[in-house]
Amino acid sequence: MKGLAMLGFDKIGWIEKEKPQAGPFDAIVKPLALAPCTSDVHTVYEGALGERTDLILGHEAVGIIDEVGSEVKDFKPGDRVIVPAITPDWRKLPVELGVPAQHSEGMLTGWKYSNIKDGVFAEFFHVNDADMNLAHLPDDLTLEQAVMLTDMMTTGFHGAELADIQLGASVAVLGIGPVGLMAVAGARLRGAGRLFAVGNREITFKVAVEYGATDCIDYKKGDPVEQIMEKTDGFGVDHVIIGGGPATAMAQAVKLVKPGGTIGNVNYYGSGFDSHDYIPVPRMAWGSGMAHKTIRGGLCPGGRARMERLIELVRNKRVDPGLLVTHVKHGFEHVEEGILLMKDKPKDLIKPVIIIDY
Ligand code: NDP
Ligand code: ZN
Repeated sequence: MKGLAMLGFDKIGWIEKEKPQAGPFDAIVKPLALAPCTSDVHTVYEGALGERTDLILGHEAVGIIDEVGSEVKDFKPGDRVIVPAITPDWRKLPVELGVPAQHSEGMLTGWKYSNIKDGVFAEFFHVNDADMNLAHLPDDLTLEQAVMLTDMMTTGFHGAELADIQLGASVAVLGIGPVGLMAVAGARLRGAGRLFAVGNREITFKVAVEYGATDCIDYKKGDPVEQIMEKTDGFGVDHVIIGGGPATAMAQAVKLVKPGGTIGNVNYYGSGFDSHDYIPVPRMAWGSGMAHKTIRGGLCPGGRARMERLIELVRNKRVDPGLLVTHVKHGFEHVEEGILLMKDKPKDLIKPVIIIDY
């Protein structure tokens, strides 16, 4: 089968590989809709995961089941499914200790596609633990909406969960690409009062307002910390979600959050801040360590139950993740172009989706 792979640092291309095989609990899926991610860009062009040779890329997919293992109960060939980016090994003991995305085989190993096994940008891909990881795709979701659940929506919403947004509290979302925009939507759903969205491009501000932002802050028109401080009489905000941007975003978040407040980070620091590879926290703004400012960061939750909950939010019209999709292409051959779009981020891009018609 054909797949789009990382050939080495800074290089992608189509390769031939054996079709994957399903173990007793697994499924083999053919893609119906695929979306490239900024994380693929970190992997290939920033070497964030280290050297990878001939690793098939991609972790955002909706598909149709081609084959299931003998023990799979709830899915059969021909079923249309949502495949979360994070697919923990639910039958491994460490998962019982909580945080399944982290515990499968060590830190971050619930993230398998395009990390520790071939990703979804292939004619076929493998899903471990199909009954626990897949969700049936309902007819009332479009493919574009559904593929946004797999990573963008679960990640952005996790930012709002990590930041522990309280009813009526003030929130700032730093970085409003597709992840940050979903964080804006998540913050609003959790009851944010004033909601600052920090970005730069017009198209992202437009969607941020549709998702509930009350104030749009352009980080290119002055220090965003100063801009928000001025609008909050110097107090800052109760919660900050870091949804994108460089490693300096952490320092901004620590400055912006009020004492007692919480920062939820879902940004992936794919390249180091400096030669020492640390993410600096400003001492004074952190009350020399005594300001009760909490920093939490996480990998997006995957698995079937999470996907089914996100489906409920979309079908009950709480949120429309389809607003993120600015570019739709038909045909497998456009996947490569999709990654390059994510890398180059033209002004009118939030997220591209590639539909595969059979
Ligand atoms: P994008 O690159 O599309 O968005 C990043 C946003 O940050 C853009 O709006 C960009 O603005 C903005 N930005 C850039 N510089 C600054 C700055 N100095 N201050 C404020 N904002 C800035 O990324 P995605 O939304 O696709 O993904 C965001 C991050 O989340 C990535 O690092 C990605 O790898 C990670 N991620 C993490 C996951 C997890 O499980 N934790 C899962 C999926 C993704 P502009 O519009 O000007 O470009
Ligand atoms: Zn992703």
